Amino acid sequence: MIIIMKPGAARENIDTVVKAISSKGLQAHLSQGDQVTIVGVVGDKTRLMHDNLELIPGVDKILSVTETYKLANKKFHPQDSTILVGDTPIGPGRLTMMAGPCAIENEDMMMKSAAAVKAAGASFLRGGAYKPRTSPYAFQGLEEEGLRYIRRAADAAGLKVICEITSQRALDTAVHYVDMMQIGARNMQNFELLKEAGRSRIPVLLKRGLNATIDEWLNAAEYIISEGNPNVVLCERGIRTYEKATRNTLDLSAVPVIRQKSHLPVIVDPSHATGVREYVAPLARAAVAAGADGLMIEVHPCPSCALSDGPQSLTFEQFEALCRELKPYAALAGRTF
Ligand code: PEP
Ligand code: MN
Repeated sequence: MIIIMKPGAARENIDTVVKAISSKGLQAHLSQGDQVTIVGVVGDKTRLMHDNLELIPGVDKILSVTETYKLANKKFHPQDSTILVGDTPIGPGRLTMMAGPCAIENEDMMMKSAAAVKAAGASFLRGGAYKPRTSPYAFQGLEEEGLRYIRRAADAAGLKVICEITSQRALDTAVHYVDMMQIGARNMQNFELLKEAGRSRIPVLLKRGLNATIDEWLNAAEYIISEGNPNVVLCERGIRTYEKATRNTLDLSAVPVIRQKSHLPVIVDPSHATGVREYVAPLARAAVAAGADGLMIEVHPCPSCALSDGPQSLTFEQFEALCRELKPYAALAGRTF
């Protein structure tokens, strides 16, 4: 349920509404626009049934929110959110580029990758230290040693660090190294991990699950926010379909759908979506046109030597060309990077 206050409603009227809500053991969330304040209610709204909130001075109207996600819902927060990762904003007006190898393999490749992606225009260095591989015999990641390498490389280049965490154990270690945690497609509905990520205050990039509907994805975001961490960015990375020409099918329609249903920023990962290097640039351009707030791109100093996801990784030169080519598209979409 949301309570929409009249334009310019007095502070004391808003306070009265909030008090009425909290006195019933429910949570009130304020979203203050330039003119209008919206009070969102989380909890069993039937407890307010006899309260006649609409009679409180300053209340304009009361609407019910039928979706099960509330804090991630645009109805609770009509303005698009900007998520701050340290001093780096992700959201309206910007195209945030996150780039780097699939996996952290050694310090040297992280140093080279950091310098190259920074020079091309990225603001985040990515790289997996805990790799959720299909086969248990495939390279599983360097864990804490890898986190040390990515932190040093990012600091040397002036980049933020984003790394996937796959377990509570990984999270406990990663919080000492990363600026943003990634929850990957395979863990999107690992509800205990989502809750732990919510209890930490580190910004979270929440990838869409391989088989998840948009509704399930937004409910996963709700798990994080409802534990007290509002700093969530969504990432569309392709879903499973019958099509075999690409690794997954990039659901670009998710971008405008998310923008309509949620205030959270949404970025696109065309690397994991396609699994094919040649398709990364066209889909990156399409993602910008569709309204994405950023892109996550896999880049490797030697894609043919990569321990994982080589076929979808761009060379440094290809990444530099992609960023150069994207600038006019970003400008047309009203974004800078
Ligand atoms: C990744 O970004 O390294 C990754 C494994 O992605 P996803 O969870 O989207 O498969
Ligand atoms: Mn990968």
